[in-house]
Amino acid sequence: AAFSLDLRDDHSKTCTAVPRATLQEVNIDEDVMLSEDTAMDAKDIQFVEHLLKLEDNMERYTTLMKLLKQDESRFFRISQANLSTILPIIYTPVVGEACLKFSDLDIPKRGIWLNVWEHSGNVYETLKQLAIEQVDVIVVSDCERILGLGDLGANGMPIPVGKLLLYSACGGIVPKNTLPIVLDVGCNTDAIRENAKYTGINKPRVDKETYNKFVSEFMDAVQRLYGKECLIQYEDFGNHNAARLLKQYRDDYLVFNDDIQGTAAVGLAGILAALNIDKVNTDLRHHKFLFLGAGSAGIGIADLIVLALVQKGMSTEEAREKCWFMDSKGLIYNGRPAKLTKEKESYAHNITSTPNDTTDLKSMIELLKPTALIGVSTIKGAFDQSIIQTMCSINAKPIIFALSNPTSKSECTAEQAYNYSSGNVVFASGSPFNPVLLNGHTYIPGQGNNCFIFPGLGLGVALSKASVVHDSMILAAAQKLASLVSSDRLASGCVYPNIDDLLDISAHVAKAVWSEADRLRVAGKSGVDVTVTDIRSSMYEPGRVRLSGY
Ligand code: NAP
Ligand code: MN
Repeated sequence: AAFSLDLRDDHSKTCTAVPRATLQEVNIDEDVMLSEDTAMDAKDIQFVEHLLKLEDNMERYTTLMKLLKQDESRFFRISQANLSTILPIIYTPVVGEACLKFSDLDIPKRGIWLNVWEHSGNVYETLKQLAIEQVDVIVVSDCERILGLGDLGANGMPIPVGKLLLYSACGGIVPKNTLPIVLDVGCNTDAIRENAKYTGINKPRVDKETYNKFVSEFMDAVQRLYGKECLIQYEDFGNHNAARLLKQYRDDYLVFNDDIQGTAAVGLAGILAALNIDKVNTDLRHHKFLFLGAGSAGIGIADLIVLALVQKGMSTEEAREKCWFMDSKGLIYNGRPAKLTKEKESYAHNITSTPNDTTDLKSMIELLKPTALIGVSTIKGAFDQSIIQTMCSINAKPIIFALSNPTSKSECTAEQAYNYSSGNVVFASGSPFNPVLLNGHTYIPGQGNNCFIFPGLGLGVALSKASVVHDSMILAAAQKLASLVSSDRLASGCVYPNIDDLLDISAHVAKAVWSEADRLRVAGKSGVDVTVTDIRSSMYEPGRVRLSGY
């Protein structure tokens, strides 16, 4: 019997307890199945072949979720042996489609929905009756902004579920110690919640005060139940809540927001790796960044660039001046008439004369002469031929990242970036692109996938028993990831490692995070003597005796 959080057959009974027996059975199963063999068996291979033959991604998703329920060990063995095949199904992009179609999907229910109408006032008791002994990582979402798909209400559950599957498949966290949670605080997308088969409560989102009170009760309940060492990852909260909640809870709770901090780390890692490519200035201090888009992704990346520069001895002010932004109203600068949020204000620098049209990207590039152009605007095609050529005319080899997802929103494609520049850009993207053959050279576009960071970061936090997730731990993760890109990949223009190496990558990232937590004196457990090999052997793999469980 595989572990499952099969909590609701029917949405009127929102949260029923998992019988304790189910949990004990898992433990027994694990013991019985321990063996030295991690390789796929004939049945595993047959399963993957069958999976690949299916026509439809939703069928693949459904088939994998059923396997997870029926045979957890086989699910993770297959996932770990085929990361680059399985990840896009259980995580982005297919998981997005699973959320959109969630009401009609025939999959075993997994995860816990806590809704504000029935559970506020008794979140602690509700979770307590589930009798889950140890929880290392919670991924929680209020589903107001699922990927780029908007407010999907209670149907966003595949996101926390998928993230946690990655925590186990690539980050070594024991599956039964993970807990996917959706806070059902309503849904403002009428078509979703009015579906007769809607999983959640058919009500619009609650007011801010009720919302804040419920989130606060939730935070206290999980900390009381699972301890201060349980990592709580915020995922796909609306923009107006994401940064605010992180700021509010990060000093007293072990919290991490992947959309802000994970994105920042993966973005910076790509930039740092790019510095190792021929013709790119090797010193971060000599670069200037222009971001198209000033949302949580862009500001998050810039904040981490600033931290990296401050670490190199720059003042915060000086470091911020290396990062410029354009938003939907044009260039952000000191004295701009269009209103600025506090986050944007930090990056509003002085300009000598105000150009007529600050919304024109090409003239802003000519004005500022950036070495790197980072697209986080969701504007498809914003980096056209003239933009790429302007970047090339002022740089030997510009860094151009088109990070907007999905592919249909990408500022440019890999093919465009290489073709318009005769291969003279360092390109990376948020969505995957195929390698591009140009003048006999194969360029491999790197994909800045957050899964390079969060599983290893979570593992490092769990192993070190850190009390907080400090920004410099995130910086350490980014620096480590950048250092793991092989010279062969760099020679092909690729600034990220191979996804199939994720388990090893996570072990390295975890070690870096642990060391930094140690240095900051926020680690509950000193890790100075622990090697990457030790960490790698402690990571969850079905059917293998782990060196040291945690
Ligand atoms: P967001 O908070 O909604 O921010 C979007 C930003 O783009 C806003 O600042 C917006 O301006 C700006 N914008 C809109 N239209 C524009 C235009 N015509 N010209 C210039 N700027 C414009 O979104 P986000 O969370 O930052 O994410 C942005 C993109 O990055 C998404 O496509 C997301 O999928 C992608 N992303 C990728 C990764 C990854 O690759 N690992 C991770 C996270 C996010 P206003 O501020 O004026 O509204
Ligand atoms: Mn997310």
